[in-house]
Amino acid sequence: MPKLNIFIDGTWLFRVCQQDGVLSNRTEYDTQSFKLNFERLSNSLLNYLKSKGKDIELGERYLSTSIFELPTDLNNWVNENPDVTTNDIERVTKGVQAREYMVQNAISAGYSESAVYRPKLRPFMIEKLKNKTYQEKEVDATVIALLVRRAITQGENFHAFITGDSDVLPAIKVAYPEYSKNVLLVTTHPDELRAEHRQTSFSYTDFQFEIAPYFLQDHVKEIIHGQNIYECSSCRKVFVRTNPIPVRKRPYCTNCSQSRT
Ligand SMILES: [Zn+2]
Repeated sequence: MPKLNIFIDGTWLFRVCQQDGVLSNRTEYDTQSFKLNFERLSNSLLNYLKSKGKDIELGERYLSTSIFELPTDLNNWVNENPDVTTNDIERVTKGVQAREYMVQNAISAGYSESAVYRPKLRPFMIEKLKNKTYQEKEVDATVIALLVRRAITQGENFHAFITGDSDVLPAIKVAYPEYSKNVLLVTTHPDELRAEHRQTSFSYTDFQFEIAPYFLQDHVKEIIHGQNIYECSSCRKVFVRTNPIPVRKRPYCTNCSQSRT
């Protein structure tokens, strides 16, 4: 049976899942980060291909991102570098913890850790992180290299590419002209152009995929973490409850149920 390999640009996916990102905006609390369940994401991609008539099972899964390795003397940086504040240290530490949490979730769902980079944090990077000029180019390159290598050597399999950067598509087309047959693009809907979309010169619509791209926003209910998952009958936002809502009751999110009383 053909397999579905999955390649995730984890840096992009992390941004998409942050508070006020396109995924958390589909839930009742857009001020909270979106809790993605990686196992459900894999299964949702499988089901998407099955719904297009493909008989398929899960194959290899990769998440590529970089997580800073924090030095043990990080707190001393405040005294040694005039540009580094306690706030900066806190922000970097929290960011590292949040990414680590995502990576660990992916690993427990069967994703390989081999494309996760752990560069050492250097004082000059703090300034770049603050003004958002720090670039993680190696992540893009790795995830594309993995995808293209598998696509070329495993033409019978499908390869899902989870990314928000359509600028990489021309490179894939050059390396693997048959991409349209068995590459599935997984991204966010282009109508919602927000901060997580970089300025891109190429649109995914310039590329002829045999299978239409999978848009994450359309599958929030399938990929969110939690037990009792509902879509609000009024605003259609997705929410999770500790206890199930009785089947004969219509589900309403917190906002809508408050405005109804
Ligand atoms: Zn609602």
